[in-house]
This record gives sequence, structure tokens and C-alpha cells, in this order.
Amino acid sequence: MNVLLVGAGGREHALAWKIAQSPRLTRLVTAPGNPGIATLCECRAVGVLAVEALVALAREIGADLVVVGPEAALEAGLGDALAKAGIACFGPTASAARLETSKAFSKAFAERHGLPTAPHVTCDSVETARAALKRFQPPYVIKADGLAAGKGVVIAGDRAEAEVAIDDMLGGRFGSAGARVVIEAFLSGEEVSLFALCDGETALLFGAAQDHKRAFDGDQGPNTGGMGTYSPAPIATPGALETAERSLIAPAVRAMATEGAPYRGVLFAGLMIEDDRPSLVEFNARFGDPECQVLMLRLAGDLLPYLHAAATGTLARLPPVEWRHDAAVCVVLAARGYPDAPEKGSVIRGAEQDFGPDVTIFHAGTARRADGALIAAGGRVLNVCARGETLAVARERAYAAVSRIDWPEGFHRSDIAWRALKGV
Ligand code: AMP
Repeated sequence: MNVLLVGAGGREHALAWKIAQSPRLTRLVTAPGNPGIATLCECRAVGVLAVEALVALAREIGADLVVVGPEAALEAGLGDALAKAGIACFGPTASAARLETSKAFSKAFAERHGLPTAPHVTCDSVETARAALKRFQPPYVIKADGLAAGKGVVIAGDRAEAEVAIDDMLGGRFGSAGARVVIEAFLSGEEVSLFALCDGETALLFGAAQDHKRAFDGDQGPNTGGMGTYSPAPIATPGALETAERSLIAPAVRAMATEGAPYRGVLFAGLMIEDDRPSLVEFNARFGDPECQVLMLRLAGDLLPYLHAAATGTLARLPPVEWRHDAAVCVVLAARGYPDAPEKGSVIRGAEQDFGPDVTIFHAGTARRADGALIAAGGRVLNVCARGETLAVARERAYAAVSRIDWPEGFHRSDIAWRALKGV
């Protein structure tokens, strides 16, 4: 199989790492890729939003499958353009990706189909939004409708703070992504990221992981794209997963098909779990980053047949996904100043040494300088991942590897997996 992978982050490095191990693979090309991905396959300098150029590249390499990493490419219509060109695509059309790209759409969709989620209202003016606050109790949850790189959600402790968030979003802080806001009830519990491969009709559960969104230890500091993950997540009990599949994932995939936007790709449900009962916090239309990294480390078999079957409507023919019995932990190394203003250009030493069979380093925001040095080129820069017989062992190995990387301008959380390991 010839495969084109689209993206440039740690998620795509993890996908490339797994796809490259497939006995069914003939050729893998990544666009645009990064220095880590470049050690595994050919990278082409085509951006993730250059839809026509990506379709042309897929044609040029005779791609049997295009795997789309980031949501921005889906919103830009890459899935639609590939469908038109008759090329199998792992990733939904822009219309199906609205489950992520419009919170107003996804909340209304969840309500229409009785999926468990917090009650909400959608407002497009400051007056209606401020008035709607009366219908909720603090803490207030205020969300910009569109894609806002993980920064479009404010949990406001009181009315005044909620009003500032409303004024801010509807006042244009997020451009057109904030033309509407969603106000919803606060959900208590513990969050988990659940993944399902979907082929338009069938959904196949594809593991769960827990992320750490806040920048600093003890879940302090600003929200980020994710500072670390672990899998399995003990909060995702078999009972909770079964309920989520039956009450949320399967009905959502069926309903997207009946609404004329069949969902193909990976459906990522952000869930709040309390007493084994999952509620939907949000849908995403792609793998989580850095959840994907730990899932790829734990996946026992070949990934490629699953991606291809999801893209071509043949998932029902495949056996259930097999996972290794061990656990995986991912620690994100971020550049100082992340998430607001990450410093770029500092040199990272020791990231490319041999860490042994249990540790894998994925590149998220690195670049190669002309003299060959590896430098920071983004906010989240490296993902230090490890496997172990238990979460505790995996975490110990990951942090041992972190300590061997010489990058004074970076920082990381030192408590990844604390929820699962408290008391261990
Ligand atoms: P979202 O972009 O919708 O996932 O929201 C970002 C983060 O805000 C989530 O990961 C949650 O931690 C938090 N959040 C969003 N909605 C709610 C809610 N209704 N109740 C509690 N926390 C929420």
C-alpha cells in the first residue's frame, strides 16, 4: 500500500512510526512531516491546508490511502477533495468534521439524538448570552463555537468572569470561530479521551487515554494542547466504555449517516465520567495529541488495515483491535513560554540517542538547523514516551529518559499519570 500521511506533529510522528512497521506498506510519504518523521519516511514540504497540492501529491505517489492528522486540514475540505478524486481517506469530510469544528452543531446534534451531554444554549449576541447565564449555576462553561486551538473554553467561577468571557468571544477575540458561543452546564467527574474507528456505518472502539491539559504540576496554570498522557486509564472501566459505546459512539455514527454526513475516520469523544456514567464533553474529528502517542505504543497488531478499512467502509470485516498488556506514558517537553509565547530556536541535545526498546521519542515541534542541530520550533516540542508492565514502570522509564535530554530552555510536568498512580 502507498500511503500519504498529512501533518507535522507528535501525533503524526507516532502514526508514521506505527504505519512504517506495517508489512503491508510499500511506500510512506508525509506532508510536511518533521525531523523525527524524516528518519522514518520521505517528507514533502506541502502544508496541511494546501488541499489541492495534497491531492496532487496523493496522485503522484499513487496513494492507496491518505491519513489526515490535524483537524484544520479536515475543516479545509481535504476529505472532500480526496473523495472527489476517488482516493481513500482516513478522516471525515468537512461536513462530518463539524462534530469538532462547530460546537453549536455538535451540541445540537447530541441533543437531537439523545446523547448524554450537559444541557446548553447557543447564542450569537452579547445580550442573549448574558441573559442566558441566568439559566445556569456557577461555575459557568463558555465556549467559542469554532476551532480555537484548545483555547476557546472558559470555566468561569462567577457571573462577572462569565460576562467577560462572553464579551471577549463575541467581541472577536477568536475571529469567526467566536461568532457564536455555547453556554453549558458544568460537568463534574474525571475526564478521559475515548477513540473509535468509524467507516460511515460501523464504529470500533480504539482505546482510551487520559490527558493532562494544564501546563504545570498539580493541574495548575493555563490550559494547553496537552502536557502528557497515559493509557490504559483506570477511570475508563469496561462498564463505562460499554455504556459510552452503546449510548454515545454507536448512535452518533448511525445518526451522522442518517443526516447525510457519514463519519469516516477516528471519532474522539472527550468524556466526563462520574460513577461509571460517561457524559460527552466534546467530539473531535481526529486522534488526540498526545493521546495518539500512547495508543500507538500499546497497539499490538498492524494499524494499516484498520485505517484502510475505516476509509473504505469495511471495518465490520476486521477482528477487534488487540492491545499489548503493558501500559504507556507520554511526557511532553514544551518550550519555555508555552502556551502563550513559546521561545523558539534553542538547541536540544541528546534527544536522538538510543534509549533502549521501551522508550520512544516523538518529535512534535522540532526543526533541523543547517548545521544539523535539533532545535525547538514550536510550543510542544518533544514527546518522551515509554512502555512498562505497569503504569508506574512506564512512568519511571519516561522520566529517566527525560533526564537524559539536555534542553535547559524546555519544561515538562513531573506528575504525568498522578491520578492513576495516587496511592501507588
Ligand atoms: P472542550 O474544548 O470542549 O474539550 O473543552 C476544553 C476543556 O474544558 C475540557 O477538556 C474540560 O476540561 C473543560 N470542559 C469543557 N466543557 C465542560 C463542562 N461542561 N464541564 C466541565 N468542564 C468542561
